[in-house]
Amino acid sequence: MMPEKACKKCNRIVEGNVCPICGDSSLSEEWRGYVIILDPENSQIAGKMNVDTPGRYALRVR
Ligand SMILES: [Zn+2]
Repeated sequence: MMPEKACKKCNRIVEGNVCPICGDSSLSEEWRGYVIILDPENSQIAGKMNVDTPGRYALRVR
């Protein structure tokens, strides 16, 4: 089982080697916090994080 990584750009938790949102491979295994955003348009957290796609995100990514 691979350790989960988070995208350094959008904080998305990514299974694999490329962020499906950014298309970027700058991922980090050092992330903290875990948030599931189901309804970005009505989520304060999503607003703060500039998230507009539902999914799983890390609160902080190093
Ligand atoms: Zn990303």
